[in-house]
Amino acid sequence: MKPSIYPMQSVYCGAKTRNGGKCRNHSMMNGRCRMHGGKAKSGMDHGRYTEGNFTKEAIASRRKFSELMRMSRELLKGINSK
Ligand SMILES: [Zn+2]
Repeated sequence: MKPSIYPMQSVYCGAKTRNGGKCRNHSMMNGRCRMHGGKAKSGMDHGRYTEGNFTKEAIASRRKFSELMRMSRELLKGINSK
């Protein structure tokens, strides 16, 4: 067993395989093996990163904003109907 620099991380990939088991390849830095996303880059390192409009944070903040807008519309509707 190769020692990991992340103590809580599993040494093996653990991705679900087609025969129902778990992948037993050694994991890379992100916890997956070379065939299950271990080499894939994310965020600004990703080759298709342009402006960050589709990062998890940007999508979450847009979702939050539209939720807020929906709530304020409902509030205004409630005020107007009185
Ligand atoms: Zn794997």
